[in-house]
Amino acid sequence: MAEECTHDCGSCSSADCSSRKGPQKDKIHEKSKIGKIIGVVSGKGGVGKSMVTSLLAVALNRAGYRVGILDADITGPSIPKAFGLKSGTVEGDQDGLYPARTPGGIDVVSLNLLLPDEASPVIWRGPIIAGTVKQFYTEVVWDNIDYLIVDCPPGTGDVPLTVFQSFKVDGVVIVSSPQELVSMIVKKAANMANMMDVPVLGLVENMSFVRCPDCGKEIHIFGESHIEEIAKEFGYPLLAKMPIDPALAVLVDAGKIEQVEKDQPMTAAAASIVAALS
Ligand code: ADP
Repeated sequence: MAEECTHDCGSCSSADCSSRKGPQKDKIHEKSKIGKIIGVVSGKGGVGKSMVTSLLAVALNRAGYRVGILDADITGPSIPKAFGLKSGTVEGDQDGLYPARTPGGIDVVSLNLLLPDEASPVIWRGPIIAGTVKQFYTEVVWDNIDYLIVDCPPGTGDVPLTVFQSFKVDGVVIVSSPQELVSMIVKKAANMANMMDVPVLGLVENMSFVRCPDCGKEIHIFGESHIEEIAKEFGYPLLAKMPIDPALAVLVDAGKIEQVEKDQPMTAAAASIVAALS
């Protein structure tokens, strides 16, 4: 990648840029400036990919970076709720779309924020959904963002493919939970990232255990975790093991994820990601 990558491949003349080896990436809005792009992926829904996206964004924001979240999980968007953002807060003019801003200063674009009512279902076919995700990249004014985090829908379908092919993704974080067929899930996501020439930044195991509120013991309700072995097998860093924490669910339900305590596993994970990308 060129030293001063603006993510605008259209006007870049760098000959040694890695993104030039693959398919041409989409051009971002002329008023956008994006530093690094991080994709967050998972094998299936409900493992806490949006939770990890939100906590990573909060940790990076607290570390002093300008952070954006592009919610590419079009049909199951949970980001706006976690940050207490209401429908209709992403606005546009003839120039482009402007993200909603969380109380802590994180810029967010999600289809739910464009809908008049968050309960409106999105009954669209794959190509339309993928096209919308592309527009969130090319037509949104991402104002001086250091880290843009893309919350991808689960699996290796249309949208993750679009994200990898069209966005200049600097790395992906793979989220899994202990009850999944972790090895296969990680392998699929890793193979996809490899095929698209995108580095894997590491693994996050969510819902790893519950800590007993009385004795502090870790209870492995989904069985023993194998994430360390998997991380070793693939040679990826294990960025975090997150417990099931009822306090997190309460914060998400109240739209106050930015009030999460500072000492949470994704804080250290964010620091490792910053180091890996610099
Ligand atoms: P995904 O994006 O993978 O579909 P979500 O992040 O939306 O999953 O999480 C699914 C549900 O589980 C949400 O209600 C979320 O608040 C809850 N959740 C996720 N991770 C945790 C956790 N570590 N502790 C408690 N609740 C969690």
